[in-house]
Amino acid sequence: AAFVGGGFAALSEVLGEFQRAAGAAERLVELLNLNTMIRSRGLPSPQQQGGFHIEFNHVDFAYPSAPDKSVLSDFNLTIRRGETVAVVGPSGAGKSTLFNLLLRWYDVRSGQILIENTPLEHLDVTGWREHCAYVSQEAVVFSGTLGDNVRYGKPQASEADVLQALTDAAAIQFVTRLPEGLNTSVGEKGVRLSGGERQRVSIARAILRNAGLLLLDEATASLDAESERLVQLAIEQSRHGRTTLIIAHRLATVMAADRIVVMNEGQIVEMGTHRELMARQGLYAKLASLQFIDQKAEKHLLA
Ligand code: ATP
Repeated sequence: AAFVGGGFAALSEVLGEFQRAAGAAERLVELLNLNTMIRSRGLPSPQQQGGFHIEFNHVDFAYPSAPDKSVLSDFNLTIRRGETVAVVGPSGAGKSTLFNLLLRWYDVRSGQILIENTPLEHLDVTGWREHCAYVSQEAVVFSGTLGDNVRYGKPQASEADVLQALTDAAAIQFVTRLPEGLNTSVGEKGVRLSGGERQRVSIARAILRNAGLLLLDEATASLDAESERLVQLAIEQSRHGRTTLIIAHRLATVMAADRIVVMNEGQIVEMGTHRELMARQGLYAKLASLQFIDQKAEKHLLA
């Protein structure tokens, strides 16, 4: 109706409405943030000594865009401080959703996630995320020097600390091969890093800022054998003193974990070590033969 009679005035009136609405939305977001801050005030900040103790208690979850499609239902899992847990399961089982909830991109619908016995929603979101490191299949490298990339999240770190983190992340050899070492430009305008190198830089970043929770989404894309070995080494060396959750696709990773959690349709269907789970001849054994196990590697490792 605003356009009846047409003209610029009518249009600007509509735009004015839009602006008012946008302003209101902005204030709403501010209010919501304020609400979170109030709730988290006075609660203990998580201890970083040796990682976090994490509990999923009767967690139910559906994505807001598909509220009728339950993604996690009565999900229960306790992860001990310092433990490395590998999560496997068919596509759509809900593995990434665990990460999304832990990083609080979404809140649970019912049930609770406890971090050191404190409900996750009581912790300040920004503060909590600073304790978490997420290493994805598509590990991000920013345009800048390699040193800047590792320092991201802890800009004041010394060069010695950066080099140590890269060593622990099994990345030091490729750094020493770069023309200007830590000062080499990487990313879009600099030296292109391979997938495995990007992942190790991302792990070095997590080590440097001493994240208490490491969330690792292992690449499904195949890396060459050497690169795979180095990423594996980086995982091995970075897990000490922190809690690590890995969406695992490789036998070596699964076998090195303290525990394997097998998910299907939003629930845990099996749990144990590789040997225990193979002996059960259930979903894990099936996945192992179909999806993430290189049979030759298995023979070699079990020999
Ligand atoms: P994959 O191995 O393929 O990554 P996954 O086990 O990590 O699978 P999730 O990504 O956690 O599975 O997805 C669980 C379910 O939630 C799937 O049915 C998926 O389609 C749905 N889902 C995931 N992300 C969203 C989203 N942002 N909005 C709506 N539904 C989603």
